[in-house]
Amino acid sequence: MFKRYDQKQQFLLPFNLEEFVPENHIARVLNDIIDVVNIDAIESTYSEEGCPAYHPRLLLKIILYGYLINIRSSRKINHMTQTDTAFMYLAAMQKPDFHTICRFRSTHLDSIKEIFSQVVTFCKEMDLIGPSISIDGTKVKANASPRQSKSSEALEKEINKILRESIEIDKQEDEMYGDSTPYQMPEELVDKKKRLDKIKAAKKKLDEEKLTKINITDNDARIMKHKDGSKKPSYNCQVAVDEKEQIIVAADVVIEENDLHQIEPMIENVKETLGCKPTIVLADAGYFSYDNIKFLLDEEIDAYIPDNFYEVEKRGKTKKFRRSLFTYDEEKDCYYCPAAFEIPFTRIQKRKDDTDLRYYVCNYCSLCVLKNACTESENRTISRDPREYLMENMRAKLNTEEGTEQYQKRMCTVEPVFGQMKQDRGFREFLLRGKRKTKIEFVMMCTVHNVKKIADFIKREGKSLKEILKMITGGGNECGDKWGITVGKANKLC
Ligand code: SF4
Repeated sequence: MFKRYDQKQQFLLPFNLEEFVPENHIARVLNDIIDVVNIDAIESTYSEEGCPAYHPRLLLKIILYGYLINIRSSRKINHMTQTDTAFMYLAAMQKPDFHTICRFRSTHLDSIKEIFSQVVTFCKEMDLIGPSISIDGTKVKANASPRQSKSSEALEKEINKILRESIEIDKQEDEMYGDSTPYQMPEELVDKKKRLDKIKAAKKKLDEEKLTKINITDNDARIMKHKDGSKKPSYNCQVAVDEKEQIIVAADVVIEENDLHQIEPMIENVKETLGCKPTIVLADAGYFSYDNIKFLLDEEIDAYIPDNFYEVEKRGKTKKFRRSLFTYDEEKDCYYCPAAFEIPFTRIQKRKDDTDLRYYVCNYCSLCVLKNACTESENRTISRDPREYLMENMRAKLNTEEGTEQYQKRMCTVEPVFGQMKQDRGFREFLLRGKRKTKIEFVMMCTVHNVKKIADFIKREGKSLKEILKMITGGGNECGDKWGITVGKANKLC
């Protein structure tokens, strides 16, 4: 006995789009959010004349939903609008072609940043953010082959090779056709010319920026070492993630491989999206520098950032007596070693950044029974940066119970976010090229990450987004004004 199965069955009533996706499907949350964000900037670029265009909200929804489920190519998105019920629901059965999707994405890249900010503000209104934020970075491969990363000499060689080959083709053409030009430039030459132009542009940039290597396909990408040890043309993606619901409150893409100079820009970025500075900031040792710690102190932000040797020394992994076993006496300007000998100040070294590095050299090592455990040199030398008190204060803070607890939050706040992006959404390589476009692509990934977090929260609370918006606004339109939602659209949800 089977249930009735008839593909030619006629339906009495037409389909309702609302039936295409289940009640708590994430496409509905994305749909409701994009329905209320302010897209005036995008709309203002459309003309009243000509054929009616696809609605920007439709295009935004299908592009962002694509990023949510690891479908980023415009051709694939177009295909999904014909085969996938969630895409059909979001597009209201319309099927924009891939040119339209691609053009919309590249034309309105910058507006995506504004939408990201609005979604973050929405999370703030929902009380999903706080109290600490963790900053971290991850390397994401550029849309470029590592083999296309070349040095100045290699580029020069390739330019000469293409020129030689082009002259050869020209010669053959001359022999065949003489002075007559029966057709346009041969395809082979067109390809070579395009490649030559690309290489010349890359070479110019390499020389101007004094780089050792440049990638011909994506000039902005830099060779970076990934966690698995491989080296690929990549970008360094930075995020600031809140502790409460793992909402990404700030995102950026940089071309510096290390994270040392990212604290200040990320804090400024957080201020821009949240409208206020964070109260507590957590980051790993890659972000430790005296400048960064000083900046955070001046900003009155409670920071928890260990220095590079903190963990190593804490685990007792240093072969010799660790530096923290030497006590500094500020009054006498000397150190006391583990054998209780006084280590006097000996000399100053001027550094490139004009700061002084002070050296303290012990005079008793040759007599000391602890020498083997302390140093391989004749005398143990300790160097001291004038701002070293910043590191000592930070270490003291991290060593307290509260400090340890705060810093441990970092691991379960920011690290899972990269895992969710890379494992769950397959974001291991950029689709777009160049710093500007990759930045926006990353912001899109962060936007859909936040949408997913909102969807999880709603599910947990057992409420709909419409109910939550109503709670935030108290049934009125206040939230629309606060986070840029157009009042009419907010009414639609509340
Ligand atoms: S080796 Fe020198 S610095 Fe080290 S404990 Fe002995 S006396 Fe002190």
